[in-house]
Amino acid sequence: MEHQYKPETICIQSGWTPKKGEPRVLPIYQSTTFKYDTSEQMARLFDLEDDGYFYTRLQNPTNDAVAQKICELEGGSSAMLTSSGQAATFYAIFNIASAGDHIISSATIYGGSSNLFTVTLKKLGIDFTLVDPEISPEDLEKEFKPNTKAVFGETISNPSLVVLDIEKFAEAAHKHGVPLIVDNTFATPINCRPFEFGADIVTHSTTKYMDGHAMSVGGCIVDSGNFDWMAVKEKFPGLTTPDDSYHGLVYAEAFGKKAYIMKATAQLMRDLGAIQSPQNAFLLNVGLETLHLRVPRHCENAQKVAEYLEANEQVAWVNYPGLKSSPYYERAQKYMPNGTCGVIAFGLKGGRELSIRFMDNLKLACIVTHVADARTSVLHPASHTHRQLSDEQLIEAGVKPDLIRFSVGIENADDIIADIEQALDSVKE
Ligand SMILES: *Cc1c(COP(=O)(O)O)cnc(C)c1O
Repeated sequence: MEHQYKPETICIQSGWTPKKGEPRVLPIYQSTTFKYDTSEQMARLFDLEDDGYFYTRLQNPTNDAVAQKICELEGGSSAMLTSSGQAATFYAIFNIASAGDHIISSATIYGGSSNLFTVTLKKLGIDFTLVDPEISPEDLEKEFKPNTKAVFGETISNPSLVVLDIEKFAEAAHKHGVPLIVDNTFATPINCRPFEFGADIVTHSTTKYMDGHAMSVGGCIVDSGNFDWMAVKEKFPGLTTPDDSYHGLVYAEAFGKKAYIMKATAQLMRDLGAIQSPQNAFLLNVGLETLHLRVPRHCENAQKVAEYLEANEQVAWVNYPGLKSSPYYERAQKYMPNGTCGVIAFGLKGGRELSIRFMDNLKLACIVTHVADARTSVLHPASHTHRQLSDEQLIEAGVKPDLIRFSVGIENADDIIADIEQALDSVKE
């Protein structure tokens, strides 16, 4: 059997494998277009009969090398980069659902995803049912309809830090002949590989830990190749019946385990064009080369900060899945025994108003929208990312109005804690 590289080696070595005389480092193919010798060669590409590049809106070698690295990290069969995490989520759903269809999603998901689902995709005629992630298997069963096409959740939700019971959602999805799509942005494949627990498709905002330095917005979709589209042929006509825009090609027959990503590339990239720029893909690759070093350090620092917060009397509550007091501790031990993520959610005694004053007094930790990069940062979701939600909707999304989202970086943990300490001192009443 061929030797399987471990994640550390994949981070450094996978994706770009130079041949004789080629650059050692992944080159940026800064070209919109690619040259062929005959008109016939080019025509075969347009018919998806040959593999090859012709226009960067659909595919680019730099992007594909980086997608391949993420694919290997997740243990998938094929992958594609997108211009953002939002584009990845949109494509992942829209590739298998259209007007008149229905999707079940965990309610505790990223604010941008819930907007996409309940506002924009609703306008396109796709209906979403948001369920409490702690729903019983029996009640989850009841949410399925004949037109349900997928189930969606986040491994560790941003910002409520709910750890998803992947197996529960996967079992329900498979029982009803639909795939489970998991947004694995916060855990990253370093800490959790959702395919091992039954997820079929994984999405990422590569903007976060993968890039790791807050340099470039990007996304990725990885397909496990495990979902048998032909076994539930009538549910997914886009994959199992002829595509007229490619002379009657049937994706699931022509491309097997790569059908889902082939379709998303050939149809959605062609028509919607949310491609990642090769420049950004290059930067993402630099980030990925140290993902295996950074993620454990984020977790180690976050553990120290969470323990400090939990012991502090000014703090009303802390949610960090690495704390024994967390309702998700046991589940995290099962799905991500080596660590969860660097993000902590907590609230201060004194509520929303005091929490905001505390944040204004932080010096090292900056107030930024971004999360999950090398620098410690902080955000108040109720005032910022989830501003459009009512208090009731906030609670439903698992975001308490006083929740502070604290994204622990890879500085020295003592310095991060000292910064929190001085900001807490300055709001002491
Ligand atoms: C940020 C984020 C997204 C959206 O990604 P963008 O790259 O900002 O478009 C999706 N899911 C999660 C969990 C995120 O944190």
